Amino acid sequence: MHKLVVANYKMNGNVDFFRSVNVLNKLKVRDTKIVLCPPFLYLPFIKIKNKAISLGVQNLSETINHKSTGEISPIMVKEFKVKYAIIGHSERRAIGETDEMIANKVVNALNHDITPIICVGENNANEGLNVVKSQVKVVLKAIDKNKIDKSREIIFAYEPVWSIGTGKLPTVKDIDKAIKLIKTTAKTLNLKVLYGGSVSGDNYSELMPSMADGFLLGGVSLKLDEFKKIVLGVDK
Ligand code: PEP
Repeated sequence: MHKLVVANYKMNGNVDFFRSVNVLNKLKVRDTKIVLCPPFLYLPFIKIKNKAISLGVQNLSETINHKSTGEISPIMVKEFKVKYAIIGHSERRAIGETDEMIANKVVNALNHDITPIICVGENNANEGLNVVKSQVKVVLKAIDKNKIDKSREIIFAYEPVWSIGTGKLPTVKDIDKAIKLIKTTAKTLNLKVLYGGSVSGDNYSELMPSMADGFLLGGVSLKLDEFKKIVLGVDK
């Protein structure tokens, strides 16, 4: 099964940076897919010329109702060949995005043929994984209620919030525990589970033995050489 490396550029970069990202088209990979998620505005500056690379976004609207000032719908991003959407990132949960909103966004994405990359994770290292289980269950319930085809690929990213941007890493054992929980809770779905949080060119190989199907990368996505190193390492 192919691995996945997702770049979450967050609210970083400018036109020049996203033009420079096109160098990634030269990457030669065997069995790894790469998803680049710039801020919406910069989507047109990434010109995909490599079958392994796809475009993603960092958020989507809950509905396709036109009375949604400031929102961007899945129909709109599809015009820019977007295939994936990160949904429920902890930085969005922190500004008030609720589980219910996240579930609506997941359903809206799937209904428009966009593969969701749903971020779940506990806030503190000693909090336990109950919150992860309930975050997954809310999504599962919405998928059931909306009769979404279960064979559709759905991606979860296990991102312990305490690890994002902090340089702190969970152990491989802890990552596997969370991934097993996600996979058993959502066993009816066609799932991939990524790991995200402080992955770098120096530490990614420590995490490779985990059960993760790849990585969701934040800060390191801005360093193109280090990003390439991780992609090629994952592809080995
Ligand atoms: C993220 O924001 O999804 C993330 C994984 O960030 P970082 O890699 O910078 O910890």
